[in-house]
Amino acid sequence: MKALQYRAIGQAPEVVTVPDPEPGPGQVLLKVTAAGVCHSDIAVMSWPGENFPYPLPLTLGHEGAGTVAALGAGVTGISLGESVAVYGPWGCGNCVKCAQGKENYCLRAAGLGIHPPGLGAPGAIAEYLVVDAARHLVPLGDLDPVASVPLTDAGLTPYHAIKRSLPKLVPGTSAVVIGSGGLGHVAIQLLRALTATRVIVLDVSEEKLELARRVGAHETVLSDAGAAEKVRALTGGLGAEAVFDFVGAPPTTATAAAVVAVEGDVTLVGIGGGTLPVGFGSPPFEVSVTAPYWGSRSELIEVLDLAREGFVEVHVETYGLDDAPLAYERLHAGKVNGRAVILPNG
Ligand code: NAD
Ligand code: ZN
Ligand code: ZN
Repeated sequence: MKALQYRAIGQAPEVVTVPDPEPGPGQVLLKVTAAGVCHSDIAVMSWPGENFPYPLPLTLGHEGAGTVAALGAGVTGISLGESVAVYGPWGCGNCVKCAQGKENYCLRAAGLGIHPPGLGAPGAIAEYLVVDAARHLVPLGDLDPVASVPLTDAGLTPYHAIKRSLPKLVPGTSAVVIGSGGLGHVAIQLLRALTATRVIVLDVSEEKLELARRVGAHETVLSDAGAAEKVRALTGGLGAEAVFDFVGAPPTTATAAAVVAVEGDVTLVGIGGGTLPVGFGSPPFEVSVTAPYWGSRSELIEVLDLAREGFVEVHVETYGLDDAPLAYERLHAGKVNGRAVILPNG
């Protein structure tokens, strides 16, 4: 089969032919209908060779959807041909976090060498994908796999982040979204669907801010040195009760600290190397700062249900498998508006 692989440190990913995979006991083989392209892959491909955490070559793609093509020995409860989305942060299935559905925080995955598809295990940007266990599959039913596949990360990750802050986002409050890309433009819709908060969005690109307004932002602000002051003014000088930073670089974590309100939440989702020091007086009193990873299995089911009810619509641009390297080039250059989705069998 054809697959998109990151083969050598610092090189662009390539479409190559690899042996057709077969599901082992307990595993499920999917014929991939759609696979999303996440900015985290760009970060992974910029890491140096020393201590690179995954074996190379690595088939990319940690957002996957497909139809069930074959069942490994012992797999029950899922049918051939069924349309499914893949829960990506695979865990052991047995520890206390996994028992709560929080396989993203599995206590044993690292020790057992369990990795998400595309982030250690062979990923979804290929004609076929082997999924470790049937519990990682969520039936899509009538949902369009192309529009839904980004919800497995670009939907699930902001959903998990926003859920933490829901009690603070009562009417009359403000929420700031920094970075209106793949994750950010879904975050805006989730905030509009789940809260009555006023949504203020920052980005460096006018085109991304235009998308932000189209999907429900109340206010948009160009993310520059004057942005924090503008957000403060938009919130009557008080700041925002929740700030979601989908960039996480030094200038944006500084902006986050500067625009959060007393007793607010800052959630650093982006992995741009920024930090937010916490001490007396800065950020404002009783601000809570966190940096989460992905979300739980039940939260993925909830996000897909929100999409089914029409509350979330991912803005996608599609590519054939041969053009997958181009999708990464465009994402790296900041040219993808919404999410790039690869159709390996399309
Ligand atoms: P993306 O490229 O689609 O979106 C990033 C957006 O940020 C773009 O619209 C870009 O114009 C904007 N941006 C860049 N610099 C900015 C700045 N200084 N101020 C404001 N906006 C700026 O990326 P994505 O796939 O949505 O991923 C977003 C981030 O989240 C990445 O760092 C990614 O690695 C990370 N991520 C983290 C998790 C997690 O579990 N923590 C999961 C998925 C992605
Ligand atoms: Zn991702
Ligand atoms: Zn576990």
